[in-house]
Amino acid sequence: MKGTVLYGPRDVRFEEREAPRIIKPTDATIKIAAACVCGSDLWPYRGISPVTQPVPMGHEYCGIVEEVGSAVKSVKPGQFVIGSFFASDNTCPHCQAGYQSSCQHRELVAGAQAPLLRVPLADGTLVSTPEVPPDGMVPSLLTLSDVMGTGWFAADAASVKPGKAVVVVGDGAVGLLGVLSARQMGAGRIIAISRHETRQKLAREFGATDIVTERGDEGVARIMELTGGIGADSVLECVGTQEAMMQAIRSTRPGGYAGYVGVPHGVQLKGEELFFTHAHLHGGPAPVRRYLPDLIKLVWNGKINPGKVFDLTLPLDKVAEGYRAMDERRAIKALLRP
Ligand SMILES: [Zn+2]
Repeated sequence: MKGTVLYGPRDVRFEEREAPRIIKPTDATIKIAAACVCGSDLWPYRGISPVTQPVPMGHEYCGIVEEVGSAVKSVKPGQFVIGSFFASDNTCPHCQAGYQSSCQHRELVAGAQAPLLRVPLADGTLVSTPEVPPDGMVPSLLTLSDVMGTGWFAADAASVKPGKAVVVVGDGAVGLLGVLSARQMGAGRIIAISRHETRQKLAREFGATDIVTERGDEGVARIMELTGGIGADSVLECVGTQEAMMQAIRSTRPGGYAGYVGVPHGVQLKGEELFFTHAHLHGGPAPVRRYLPDLIKLVWNGKINPGKVFDLTLPLDKVAEGYRAMDERRAIKALLRP
């Protein structure tokens, strides 16, 4: 089998590797219907996160169950399934509390940019669709594996409620789907931060009411202007840089909520400033598994179409071009079809 392997900065190869198989009785293997390149794949691709050995890439997946281990009860071969980038047992105390991405037995899923994938803890991780979906629905279902679930968590963590004023920092796929999530949750006003024309357009399509192009403290000043000097009720931080995090916290009104889902790179917070913001901070790796059943319903019933974030579709063996296009910001998100 050929699969995607990252060797070092800007060195992505689609090459022969061992085909995944059932190792533990709780495993399943999935024939991938579609995979994609994640914004977080760009951190090691750019050399910001070091790569010390060749790494199989890809953690967003959906497809048909090929084989299950002897202990797997909830899914069976032939079913179409979606799972989170963190495999979880869905039974431990953290899972029960809805934080499956902190599962006591969590395992990072890797190697999804390939035709076949092994998923550990299949019973706790995978959720099946009512039936095998039409091909046109596959991109939207794929987003539930990470980006859409992460955008939804950002909005949930930021306590988006009907009528509230929301700011979304970040115009990558997660930020754009954070806009869609906030709209779905009934936000009154959604201010998207973006300088990029095609992303602004999609943000508006997903429900943004205002676009702010300024970043950092200029961006904060602009949001204060738009909110009558009060700040936003809910702010979604979907980048992970110091500037984005501070823009998010400083845009939050006293008593408001900042949900942060951008993986932090070099972010440092000052205790004294935090103390006086009166902001609720909540974030981390999204517990995608918690949201999967509801998000599958929303896609299945045509209420949301998050698959619109894919503006580039490539055959799996052209995966390197997908990384390049996203790195150069020519594409918002690259869809890979085997
Ligand atoms: Zn667990």
